[in-house]
Order: sequence, then structure tokens, then C-alpha cells
Amino acid sequence: MTTVLETRNLVKRFGAFAATNDVSLKVEKGARQALIGPNGAGKTTLINLLTGVLEPTSGSVILEGQDITRLPSHQRVRRGIVRTFQINQLFNELTPLQSLALTVSNQLGISGRLWQALGRDERVAQRCDELLKQFHLDDVQDQKVALLAYGKRRQLEIATALACNPRMLLLDEPVAGVPEGERQEIFDIVNALPAEVTVLLIEHDMDLVFNFARTVSVLVNGALFAEGDVKSIASDPRVKSVYLGE
Ligand code: ADP
Repeated sequence: MTTVLETRNLVKRFGAFAATNDVSLKVEKGARQALIGPNGAGKTTLINLLTGVLEPTSGSVILEGQDITRLPSHQRVRRGIVRTFQINQLFNELTPLQSLALTVSNQLGISGRLWQALGRDERVAQRCDELLKQFHLDDVQDQKVALLAYGKRRQLEIATALACNPRMLLLDEPVAGVPEGERQEIFDIVNALPAEVTVLLIEHDMDLVFNFARTVSVLVNGALFAEGDVKSIASDPRVKSVYLGE
């Protein structure tokens, strides 16, 4: 098995408090892995260390055998580790089609104004079309992002991350805040992500975790608490007590 992403003895302290405490995590190629943990377990801190938003106090982050611990965020994206965009990073005044065209044209190294990328480059138009269909956004492709339903905006976050051609996709709580009626569509999209993209899902919602993941890593108090396949984690009394004791 090839390891795509690995952390080695990762530690992040805020003063004396260790939000990430000696985490050694491996994500294998093609994985459908989830990182779960109660509120305050250190999930966000760990993502920030993986994406370069935070620098660790000690330890390292390895992507496809290369140490990326000190690389800035944009260089990590270029190397293929991409976190889902956050709603507040989306351009409210653009449409989903325009948003994706920007990212896709940037990926293809096409500079120039938006209308040029959209109107003149067949590759951009074709890739946008694929992404819009894949993420069930084709019916709203020309509406302003600001006017989209919340669930659709979350779909656009994932689509925008995928437009960066990630090898390692960090799916950051894709159903958080999504109304009940819009969740299934996101489950379906997440389950249909291309097999060649390795996925680490950071999630609090157990329905999605057990619906999607094959492997689960449980974080508690900044440290890895349990790891295993979905069934063993779901039936682990220690894990249950951590969640029930929340
Ligand atoms: P989760 O995403 O699992 O809810 P976080 O990574 O947000 O957990 O937080 C883990 C712990 O680290 C929490 O106790 C939080 O208060 C603390 N923490 C996170 N960021 C900071 C910071 N910048 N300064 C101090 N403490 C922080």
C-alpha cells in the first residue's frame, strides 16, 4: 500500500496546552478515511497543520514521501493536498459556473479575464460542465452564489476543491449546518467522488462517517484515541463512551 499523507509525532501547543498531541496518522492511497472526535478534540487544529495554516511546535507532515511541514499553503495545494473551500471563501457575486471557470483556468495555467477563459477555451468549458454535473450544480450554474441554498453552496465548496485536481482531498465537515432535506444529496456526491482521489473526511456527523468511510481515526484531547475499520470503531465501547460523555 502506498501512503499518500502521513503525520509523524505532530504536536501543536498553544502555550502549555497541546491541541495536537503526538499525532502519527497515515492515509493510504485511495482511502476513504474519516477523522472524528468530539468538540474540542483538535480536528480543526490538525487540518490547519496539514494545510499549512498553522506551523507545528514539533513533528512533521509528509505528502507522498516529501516533507511539506514548512511549505506555505499555496504550495501544498499545488502539490495536491486540498481542503474543501469554505463558504466564506466563495465569491458571492459570481455564479457557480464563473467560480469554477476561475479555478479551472488557473489550474490549466490560463491567465486572462474571465470571459476569455469561459468563452474561448474549450478545455475550461468542458471541465466546468463536468464539475457542474458531478456536483449537481448544473441547474443553478448561472445563479449568483449568494442566492444559492446553503446545501448548494456546500456542494460548490467541494466542487471548487476538486477543480484543483487534488490527490489528497480534505473534506471539512461537508454537512455541518446543512438542513436535513439537503443532506442526502451531499452524501451522494461525497460517495461518488473519483476513486483516484484519496479522501480524509473530518466530520462530527456519524451518519455521514458510517455511510462513507472505510477507516476511522478517532481524536480525543488532541491525541489519536482509536483507529480501525468502520465496524470495529462503531462497536468500540471506549469510542461510544467518549461520544456519550460529551
Ligand atoms: P475541534 O475542531 O475538534 O472542535 P479544535 O482544533 O478547534 O477542535 O480545538 C482543540 C482545542 O484547542 C480546543 O480546546 C481549543 O480551545 C484549543 N485551541 C484551538 N485553537 C486555539 C488557539 N489559537 N489558541 C488557543 N487554544 C486553541
